[in-house]
Amino acid sequence: MLTIDGIDKIYPNGTHALGGVSLAVEQGEILAIVGGSGCGKSTLLRLAAGLDTPTRGTIAVDGTIIDRPHPAVGIVFQEPRLLPWLSVADNIGFGLADVPKAERRDRVERVLARIGLADYGTRWPRELSGGQAQRVAIARALVTQPKVLLLDEPFSALDAFTRASLQDALLALWDAQKPTLVIVTHDVDEAIVLGDRVVVMEPHPGRIFSTIGVDLPRP
Ligand code: ADP
Ligand code: ADP
Repeated sequence: MLTIDGIDKIYPNGTHALGGVSLAVEQGEILAIVGGSGCGKSTLLRLAAGLDTPTRGTIAVDGTIIDRPHPAVGIVFQEPRLLPWLSVADNIGFGLADVPKAERRDRVERVLARIGLADYGTRWPRELSGGQAQRVAIARALVTQPKVLLLDEPFSALDAFTRASLQDALLALWDAQKPTLVIVTHDVDEAIVLGDRVVVMEPHPGRIFSTIGVDLPRP
């Protein structure tokens, strides 16, 4: 379970990016966060990923405080951020350095098949379409089996058709491992389709404005 308790981030220029946000996300839940530009969504995810530390408040996964990058938490950004000098398979296997080679290969192969890119292991990132590259980014984040996966506008750069197929790919991976998902999106339809729960953040500072339970079947 992901617990966010009263966090704020005061940037050096004095901006309070979050004004005290609290959230609890159950194991295996999909939480969607929507809100206007500048309300603190990216800051919230960066803090939850341990890429930055809150000025006050705490973030914990099953009781472990997250104040630096941690294997229990993965993150996917709007751009895939693949390493251009590594093959697709090696990009995905990058976080599995401690796993024996045969098992690493096996896990990379399985996740490639699950994202519909079974034959793409030996390709280079530059040979992929935007949608394929983002599939690889999601696979890379999930292959280490984190308890929590954070996604910051993961499909915003994609056209509507590609977006729909990526949503399906994400749900297929989620279904196989049931991590907790937190997805930030400006697309309200996407939030309602993917989320078990949708949280709306207020502008300035980013407190939680309202929470909506969603009772729709997923695609
Ligand atoms: P969102 O993702 O919802 O657009 P952000 O988390 O990017 O919001 O930003 C929240 C607030 O913090 C905004 O007012 C933004 O200008 C400010 N902010 C974000 N990053 C920085 C930074 N590195 N330095 C100063 N202010 C920042
Ligand atoms: P190294 O770079 O250590 O010599 P490899 O070239 O065999 O090892 O591959 C690096 C990692 O990526 C390995 O863990 C392997 O499991 C995985 N890998 C490499 N190529 C593929 C592929 N075509 N399909 C699936 N996994 C692969």
